[in-house]
Amino acid sequence: MPRKPIENLKSRRKRPKKAKSSEPGQRQVCPCCHAEVTFCWSCRCGFRLCQSCMTENLWGMTCNNTTWDCPDCGEQRSY
Ligand SMILES: [Zn+2]
Ligand SMILES: [Zn+2]
Repeated sequence: MPRKPIENLKSRRKRPKKAKSSEPGQRQVCPCCHAEVTFCWSCRCGFRLCQSCMTENLWGMTCNNTTWDCPDCGEQRSY
């Protein structure tokens, strides 16, 4: 296995234990409806949407029910 010397540099900096905000089973707040949910649809730009918001807004975000467009960056994500 190749070593990662960069990891050593990074570990010097203080950072929160949980770097990821979207681990499965973890509670998170939907930025749209502020409901506490265990799962959010998320885009790499940081946009998130819970399942119920996604269902509500599906008509405006998807055209084929297999992908949805992030309203923030326009990126296509698989649904
Ligand atoms: Zn929501
Ligand atoms: Zn996005």
